[in-house]
Amino acid sequence: MRIAEIFYSIQGEGELAGVPSVFVRTAGCNLRCEWCDTPHASWEPVFEELPLDAILTRATALLPTENVPKHLVFTGGEPLIAPEAVELTQRFADDGWHVTVETSGNVYQPVQCDLLSLSPKLANSTPWQRDAGKHAPAHEQHRLDLPILQRLIDEYHHQLKFVVREPADLEEIDSILSQLRNVPLQQVQLMPEGTDAATLSRRAEWVVEACKDRGFRYCPRLQVELFGNARGK
Ligand code: SF4
Repeated sequence: MRIAEIFYSIQGEGELAGVPSVFVRTAGCNLRCEWCDTPHASWEPVFEELPLDAILTRATALLPTENVPKHLVFTGGEPLIAPEAVELTQRFADDGWHVTVETSGNVYQPVQCDLLSLSPKLANSTPWQRDAGKHAPAHEQHRLDLPILQRLIDEYHHQLKFVVREPADLEEIDSILSQLRNVPLQQVQLMPEGTDAATLSRRAEWVVEACKDRGFRYCPRLQVELFGNARGK
């Protein structure tokens, strides 16, 4: 499997924010978000090819003691395009790990996980301003697949996390939610886009108000607050 990095840190986002977790980040993504915060796993992937046994061994070795709860965050890139995604998540689950899978939700694989963290990409992600927009049409074509998203929502305990940049993004979210079934409002999270504390703080003002108005959950980016979005932390 193509692995960009394996590291032990604190989950920064979503309902498990604050939980010490081992992150296994695959390299390769079927999208090219303009503001991607992990370009080493998408735009310019850097990776080593690792057998599944080695991934599990490395992840286990990062835990400080045997007593520490085993939390895995399987992320990317887009981890669900990895052909071995099902087998890897099954191996971790069989070994007693709590497994979170982070995905954009536009590709399906029957992974084994306790929490599926879905982050469908809005129009604000389309890279019209990068490389003369050459990736934008493909990104637009793939960023949302509502039948696949609905299947994932129906089959997994999930959270639905939207990265927002402008108040106008809320209309698109309302439209998407109106086309989905079985999404409790408390499972919907708004996360400001940004890789520095000042940007997040500025956007937080209206994002918090939008959460209050709609009954959504505000999603922090603790990794930015704690580590400045440094790679491998
Ligand atoms: S889906 Fe995630 S990893 Fe892929 S380009 Fe977008 S932000 Fe980056």
